[in-house]
Amino acid sequence: MFSYWEKASFYRYDHVVVGAGIVGLSHALELRDRFPGARIMVLERGLLPTGASTRNAGFACMGSASELLDDLQTNTEAEVVKLFAARKKGLEKLRARTGDTRIGYRADGGYELISEREAEVCGKIDMLNNMLRAITGAPAFKMANERIAEFGFAGGYDKALIENTCEAGLHTGMLVRTLMDLATECGIEVKTGADVVSFEEDVNEVIVVVRDPFGGGTIRFSCGTLSLCTNAFTKQLLPDVDVIPGRGQVVVTDPIPGLRFKGIFHFDKGYYYFREIDGRVLFGGGRNLDFEGERTTEMGLSERIQADLDDKLSNIILPGQSYTVAMRWSGIMAFGETKKPIVRSFGQRVFGAFRMGGMGVALGSTSAAELADLIEQR
Ligand SMILES: Cc1cc2nc3c(=O)[nH]c(=O)nc-3n(C[C@H](O)[C@H](O)[C@H](O)COP(=O)(O)OP(=O)(O)OC[C@H]3O[C@@H](n4cnc5c(N)ncnc54)[C@H](O)[C@@H]3O)c2cc1C
Repeated sequence: MFSYWEKASFYRYDHVVVGAGIVGLSHALELRDRFPGARIMVLERGLLPTGASTRNAGFACMGSASELLDDLQTNTEAEVVKLFAARKKGLEKLRARTGDTRIGYRADGGYELISEREAEVCGKIDMLNNMLRAITGAPAFKMANERIAEFGFAGGYDKALIENTCEAGLHTGMLVRTLMDLATECGIEVKTGADVVSFEEDVNEVIVVVRDPFGGGTIRFSCGTLSLCTNAFTKQLLPDVDVIPGRGQVVVTDPIPGLRFKGIFHFDKGYYYFREIDGRVLFGGGRNLDFEGERTTEMGLSERIQADLDDKLSNIILPGQSYTVAMRWSGIMAFGETKKPIVRSFGQRVFGAFRMGGMGVALGSTSAAELADLIEQR
């Protein structure tokens, strides 16, 4: 129940965005660019953004060679190229918006470890380079076997190393923090602890219904447009969309003196990924061991996947080196029948950008802008 004063000052918005992840915050900033005088609010149900954006590995990734080859099995070449281009454009957009320092952007190299059974991937990088040349200008992939000994990997993943010249790493905490700061600086209201339970659209407005954390009831806001940037959790608001949650689990070590590598690394078609951050190793993946079990929106860890990560960390990434694990966590991604994100309208005034898969860091800015284009054109 609003007071007279609250109804006058807090009830009505031009644009409401649900979800304060990379996509929701970037989208709110895109709306601000297009509608300088508008009243814009972002509603986030967690006290912090609580999906994937603050829980990922911080790879500004475009897709490893084996992953793109795998994508070509189920997608046309044009689709694979288009998605690669969207990731590349998204990363450029993000860097232009924030600057590199504020997001801890570091182009220390992106690599894929190739095992013996995947050796044929190396023979296909010329084909991939030709396929992507119109976007990248220069070869996206090159062999980097001369660095294998220096990095010290083992466990059968030391047969070949492919460098992806388009990829880099960033600090995903700094990234989301910066997007929030930019939003606040330009008058966007970001409200956390605001769980949107439903919405009702009519010709004049959308009513957004938010759980009241105090009274146990709900609070209703009115807006001109509603944008759902709720990624893996979108089915709670749009039950019919093709969104399948996928949990990703991560482990990070304490600082390791003399760590032999920097940069970002993938193996097994992108199902495993690791990097150096602040002298530590961050390692994640293993969802492919138990797709069914990891099809969940519950944050949590599974013994099986954590044991697999521990095994690969000590045998492939840090063979013969001593280290201790500092932290473990998980986050929730969104997948579907294709890797293409969903960016579209769901009514005259309701819009959505979600299903970023494992590549939302780079892709998120493109989807956020495309969604704002739809709203501008309506
Ligand atoms: C372990 C892990 C590693 C990853 N590594 C990488 C990587 O290295 N590189 C990369 O590009 N991508 C990576 N990803 C994927 C990437 O993090 C996502 O694609 C991206 O963060 C998606 O951003 P988003 O804004 O769409 O979704 P999210 O960050 O999930 O944001 C959605 C937000 O909506 C909020 N929300 C949901 N429902 C409601 C509601 N009803 N009311 C209010 N708020 C709501 C949630 O709390 C959440 O904060 C990884 C993901 C995980 C989990």
